[in-house]
Amino acid sequence: MSEEIQHGALYIVSTPIGNLDDISLRAIKILKGVDLVAAEDTRKTKFLLDHLSISKPLVSYYSYNEARRVPELVDQLKQGKSIAVVTDAGTPGISDPAYLLIRNAIDRGISIVPIPGANAALAALVASGLPTDRFVFEGFLPVKKGRKTKLEALKSEHRTIILYESPFRIERTLNDIIEYWGDRNIVVARELTKKFEEFKRGKVTEVLAQIAASTPKGEFVLVVEGTH
Ligand code: SAM
Repeated sequence: MSEEIQHGALYIVSTPIGNLDDISLRAIKILKGVDLVAAEDTRKTKFLLDHLSISKPLVSYYSYNEARRVPELVDQLKQGKSIAVVTDAGTPGISDPAYLLIRNAIDRGISIVPIPGANAALAALVASGLPTDRFVFEGFLPVKKGRKTKLEALKSEHRTIILYESPFRIERTLNDIIEYWGDRNIVVARELTKKFEEFKRGKVTEVLAQIAASTPKGEFVLVVEGTH
């Protein structure tokens, strides 16, 4: 089915989380066809567009300028421009900017078109071997304020819990999981879709011991068994 680009529509385009082949044919068509691409980091998106031989006007859209950028982008959509919103990796709006733009666009009657694709949380979940029938995505745990409350609230969660974490805080988060939730089964997915993709499976204490044995590097998703 060939797809016409809709005038005045906002396309939410998922991009790869490491492996550049993980871009859909539809995402390429949309990125080629829209008038403008709103990108979290225009340099990173330019690299992707160059790789796809696409040349397109880029405008930055990220958490620190979104309050100013949203009305500008929504005005352009209202004038009939088609815009794709992309982030540095994966699905916009998932622990990434896009929510405010999408919310405001909906309020102004603009068509929203999702272009599904790579997402670190779902890739980690399906490969984890932990139950996938019910799960809860919590993104990054708060670093300071609200961290303890969040950890306490999740202690009795029955569903599989998915968290994002950086290499700088992974050990602290694994220690907190042991302290607040107890020693349960966990899968730590690292560098998904990349050369050094790796899954560590076991009890949290076992996985923590392996991770703490060297300096953690890369991007991590934690998939934690719910309580029984
Ligand atoms: N929007 C993205 C998505 O759809 O997955 C998430 C963006 S969030 C700012 C970045 C976090 O996602 C990283 O700190 C890490 O926890 C996770 N992540 C992104 N890419 C990853 C990868 N290739 N392997 C493991 N985790 C990844």
